[in-house]
Amino acid sequence: MEVYWERLTTKTFQEQVLNQIDTAILPCGSVEAHGMHCPLGTDNIAPIEFAARLESLYPDRLLVLPAVPYGHTWDLAQWPGTISVSNRAFSQYVGEVGTNLSRWGIRNIILMNGHGGNVGALQEAMEPMAEAGMRAVLVNWWLDYSQDILTITTGQGHAGEDETAVMLAMAKDWVRMDDASFNPYKPKFRVKAQGIQDKSLRHATTGDGRLGTKEKGDKIIEVVISRLSTLLMDLWQDNLFTEVR
Ligand SMILES: [Zn+2]
Repeated sequence: MEVYWERLTTKTFQEQVLNQIDTAILPCGSVEAHGMHCPLGTDNIAPIEFAARLESLYPDRLLVLPAVPYGHTWDLAQWPGTISVSNRAFSQYVGEVGTNLSRWGIRNIILMNGHGGNVGALQEAMEPMAEAGMRAVLVNWWLDYSQDILTITTGQGHAGEDETAVMLAMAKDWVRMDDASFNPYKPKFRVKAQGIQDKSLRHATTGDGRLGTKEKGDKIIEVVISRLSTLLMDLWQDNLFTEVR
């Protein structure tokens, strides 16, 4: 039976989870401009859907936590609809949610992240979880599986080809392809400054959102789920390392 933390009662939690399931997925996202064509909740929709697909594959070993939907998104704050919290607040919040899980027998936590701006804070949030005796794993799907994704798309980007494709496959009705655009500008190095977002994130996009298709999205989802299945197996079999000789 598929197990979603928030659908259980205390009694069913006790009967079905406690001392039986030790691995949980915490989807982490953000609410922010995603081009002019993708929904503001793009970075929540993707990790929540990845979590649901994994849950259907491993219902007896895995449970899904309610998502943390608000993240750190300073770079996109100027676009209407973006909601951003500070790195520190986000990191502390996720860290405390995570360490609480150890009280209920969760040993492995997968932070299923959908948003680039969250990466630094989530790295830090994993530290108290490790100190509480847990194994915390951070998955940034578009980065970790970039090589695979680039066999499907010609490029990647924020509301770019890959993310637009995934949204078309997951939430087609909420995407307006007529408003998709291409950002020809790419910063030469990591830079933050006021006023450069009009280029660095032109139309709240990096890359080319016009190239996204549902077919590409379906393929990306397939490869991501296959990689994540391998990750879970490795975690459960204590295979945390590859050996380089
Ligand atoms: Zn995104």
